[in-house]
Amino acid sequence: MTMTPSPLNDETAPAIEPHRACLLVVDDQPANIQAVYQIFSGQHQVLMATNGEQALTLCLKTPPDLILLDVVMPGMDGLETCRRLKALDITRNIPVIFVTGGSRVEEENECWEVGAIDFVSKPINPATLRNRVRAHLILKQQTDLLRLMAFRDGLTGVSNRRYFDDRYNVEWRRAQRAGSALSVIMIDVDHFKLYNDHYGHAEGDKCLRMVASELNAQLNRPADLLARYGGEEFVCILPDTDLNGARITAERMRLSVEKIALPHAASLTSSCVTISIGIATMEDKVSEDLAPVLVDKADEQLYIAKRSGRNRISSECLVSSEL
Ligand code: GH3
Ligand code: MG
Ligand code: MG
Repeated sequence: MTMTPSPLNDETAPAIEPHRACLLVVDDQPANIQAVYQIFSGQHQVLMATNGEQALTLCLKTPPDLILLDVVMPGMDGLETCRRLKALDITRNIPVIFVTGGSRVEEENECWEVGAIDFVSKPINPATLRNRVRAHLILKQQTDLLRLMAFRDGLTGVSNRRYFDDRYNVEWRRAQRAGSALSVIMIDVDHFKLYNDHYGHAEGDKCLRMVASELNAQLNRPADLLARYGGEEFVCILPDTDLNGARITAERMRLSVEKIALPHAASLTSSCVTISIGIATMEDKVSEDLAPVLVDKADEQLYIAKRSGRNRISSECLVSSEL
């Protein structure tokens, strides 16, 4: 009997080695930074900071792959620095290894409590530090890849439905708190079943990739999100955007797909691939459990756009008193 090696246990698979990574070393003693620099500079990029404030500023500008953090420093100590890193979205996932001079149990416990992934004791044993860093870089690489795969649509490369659901809930709550507007745009390719039937599934896939890339190119703000909602349907979240702003973005999307002029010989409404769009905007504070309403309303508007002839936009601004 022959057995196919499982991908998890395949001797022919390449060994996992961390790529050239970016490490940040934070220590108030330049001699300690120098010692760590010598251990890693041949293999990795090494950034340096001599206090907690400097480390935070650096992390916000160029987030490193891993941080080696001294516990005792004048001003903001290592524990407080780590606490702050773990409280910010963009720095939360950077692994922090504490480099500690003390060996008190309380100090070790404090390191774990603020979110350390590991610690090493001074004086540093270069082999131990090298191996700890290597192990955590591999773990980080794998976690990043898993996160990417879990939240990305494999065909088009845009975010998937799961990511949309998460972000939508966050943005809904944020809009409620701030009393700001929130718009949802639903997009559906017109007569796509006929496109597949006429050109084949592979061409259909190509068309979806092209449409996704055009739609994505029309988003300007970092908080805007495009996701594949399912099949040939896409959805957009536009935080802090009123109905007028959402209509402008949607019209740019509609035109950009029309402009590719991808032939659709089987379409009943156009000679090229087109999209229909439904928009729902919430410009008012409403109760928290109404979150799904906005997506449903955008879907309703999409169907109005379909019924009115396709390749068009239909929209609605929700007012809390009417819900
Ligand atoms: P309408 O204008 O009313 O939206 O008509 P439609 O044909 O686009 O809508 P319908 O929902 O009837 O058909 C959607 C089609 O999308 C059917 C399905 O085969 C196709 N589809 C869904 N996902 C994929 C995909 O990943 N790749 C390809 N090639 N086709 C897909
Ligand atoms: Mg369709
Ligand atoms: Mg559809």
